[in-house]
Amino acid sequence: MTTDLNCESCGMPIESGHYCQYCTDGQGNLQDFDTRFAAMVDWQQRRSPGASRETIEAETRSYMSTMPAWRNHPGLTNA
Ligand SMILES: [Zn+2]
Repeated sequence: MTTDLNCESCGMPIESGHYCQYCTDGQGNLQDFDTRFAAMVDWQQRRSPGASRETIEAETRSYMSTMPAWRNHPGLTNA
């Protein structure tokens, strides 16, 4: 039996719960927006080494705005 769960913060497939191991702290709580945003910018930068910082940040914002954990976050709504 397969599950169809994805992390509500970054979208990666997970086995259970709402968030993956990368998006939570040691207690299983979701990390704050700034922490996740910085980590996802880094991740995106590794995938697109030639892209400018502005492009990377815009792509990261638009990706995060599709995620249940972040889509109503004030850090994204006025971007
Ligand atoms: Zn995640």
